[in-house]
Order: sequence, then structure tokens, then C-alpha cells
Amino acid sequence: MNLVSNGSAAVFPPAHSHRRTVPLAAVAVDRPKRIVLAAPRGYCAGVDRAVIAVEKALDQYGSPVYVRKEIVHNVEVVRDLTQRGAVFINEVDEAPEGAHLVFSAHGVSPAVKADAASRNLLSIDATCPLVTKVHREAERFSRQGFHILLVGHIGHEEVEGTFGHAPDQTTIVHDPDAADTVEVPDTENLIWLSQTTLSVDEAMETVARLRARFPHLQDPPSDDICYATQNRQVAMKKIAPECDLVIVVGSANSSNSVRLVEVAAEYGARAAYRVDYASEIKQEWLEGVATIGISSGASVPEMLVQEVIADLAEAGYVDVETVQTTTEDLVFSLPKELRTNANGEQDERALGGRRS
Ligand code: SF4
Repeated sequence: MNLVSNGSAAVFPPAHSHRRTVPLAAVAVDRPKRIVLAAPRGYCAGVDRAVIAVEKALDQYGSPVYVRKEIVHNVEVVRDLTQRGAVFINEVDEAPEGAHLVFSAHGVSPAVKADAASRNLLSIDATCPLVTKVHREAERFSRQGFHILLVGHIGHEEVEGTFGHAPDQTTIVHDPDAADTVEVPDTENLIWLSQTTLSVDEAMETVARLRARFPHLQDPPSDDICYATQNRQVAMKKIAPECDLVIVVGSANSSNSVRLVEVAAEYGARAAYRVDYASEIKQEWLEGVATIGISSGASVPEMLVQEVIADLAEAGYVDVETVQTTTEDLVFSLPKELRTNANGEQDERALGGRRS
């Protein structure tokens, strides 16, 4: 489903059209039925900030507020914000001159910001600060004469944005196999950076294979794979071995959600699926299943996880145990344009912090 409009008529499904109409049936299993719920899961600080930024921009400036690309990669979040008056566009030239435009959490290249400025758009940058950190690294290392090997998925918006900060000195390395063939202009002054939402294990394999070919390859000063991605993968690694089935709530274009499915399968879950909505759970997935693991990507509202739990209860999975591997309390302040209310006072949402 493509929820990005052409700027004239937003297309979105009606609210709750995704709800299941026929309940899941209980299937007999020879062991107790249970759910293990991974924690942390769901919204990270960067997503929370970006979603609040669009909501607040709508409050402050009124509809329409234009948003370049999906503000975060989740169909329900985009559907909900579309209903509230956000207009999702693919490129800045789809917004009328002088409009308010929000850049998504995945970040943009300097060229996109320049395009927006040339159209007199009033830009609000909701780029996650942890993505901005990678942008700053790309700028700094390119200034210092390094060639950057950017480990990440070709075509992903975040990778496009980071690449755009040093386009003449960056080569994208898509996966471990690409590390074996990538060509670089200089084998001495090389450093790697990465997309924030990769599989930690796969990224480290890519880096190891790069280093085998380029022994002078330098590490970035700190991890680029963000705390939220890492924490959700650690929790998944903990629950996966005991699960007959893992359900990850998240959208198909959500890198960290897709990685969670891969991690679940790799760490011992007998089966692992991704769903946007509870109604996508198939009855046949429950055959012979006693223990179901549940997690959700960093862009997923908790409400969608609770709908999965409610639907599985219909099939007899009422025993829910939370497995918490760490706690998170990071919050990011809102983009500067949105920190105050109409009276110039600090808005109560200025620090983000919604936990659902
Ligand atoms: S997943 Fe990580 S990098 Fe992406 S918005 Fe969340 S905290 Fe930021």
C-alpha cells in the first residue's frame, strides 16, 4: 500500500479498516499456550520526536503541512497523520511555494534542503539526532580526506541522505557479499559508517570482510547502529530460542522491523513473520504453536501490538509474559521551530517523551 500522495489528494484507508472480522480460532496444542513479549519494543526517541513534530506543526500552522517521504516507516502512523491533515509527498517540488514542509526522521541530503530553501518552503527538520550524528561524521571524515564506506541498504532514505553529505567520497556497501567486490579509490584513508537500523551481526560481518580486504580501514568513533535498533535486537535474541512463532509488528519498508524478523529466525524461532496489523495473522501460523514471541519495530505505535495480543487471546494465548532486557529513557527535544506555544512558552511536548 502506498500512502504517499501526489500532493493533491491524500490516499489512505478508513480508520480501523484493518481490524479482523473473523476471530482467530483456538487450535489444540500439547503444551501451555503463552506469549512472550519483548521489551524494549516499539517507538524510539527519534520516532516519537518526529511524529510529535508533525502533530505540533499541524496544531501550530494548520493543515496542510507537507511531509517529505513517510515521516517514519509505518503505514498506520502515516494513515493517522494523513487524516489529521498532513500531506505526504515524495519530493520538495510537490509542495507549493511558501508551504510548511517537514523532513522525515530518516534525514535528507544538503541538496534536498537547498531545494526546499529555493522554493521558499518553511522547513522543519525532524531528522533523528542519531542520524544527524552520522551526517556530521560523513562531513567531517570527507573534510579530513577519508573515503567513506557506508554500510547500508541502497535506496533507503537514510542512506540516500547520509550519502548526500559526502557524495564524491562515499561508496555504499549493501551487504557482506558486496564487501568482497567493492572498489575504492584509496586503500589507506578509509573509514566505515553505517545506516542506523541494520542487523548488528550482519553489519559486523560486512565490516570484518571489508577489513580483510582493506587492513587500514578505520572504525567510526562510536556505533552508528542506534540504541533502539540494538536494544530491540537484543530482546529478540533473548526470546527467539523459546518461540514456536514470532510476530513482529512493523511495516515492510521499516528496516529495523524487517531485521527483527531475520534475527528471530536466526536465533531459533521456528517461524517468524512481520505484520502491519493483527488482522494479517494467518490462522495456519498457529498450528502446533505453544509459545508466541511478539515485538515491534521502532516506528510502531504500541496500540498495534496490543491489537495483536487481543486477537491471539481469542485463540487461547492469554498468558502474557514480558521479557525485558533493558529500559530506555532517552528523549529528544523537538525541532526548534516547535518548542514553544503561541504565547512563546515552552510547549509541554517540547521534549517529546510519549511512550506509546
Ligand atoms: S530507529 Fe534509531 S536512528 Fe531511527 S529514529 Fe529511532 S532512534 Fe533514531
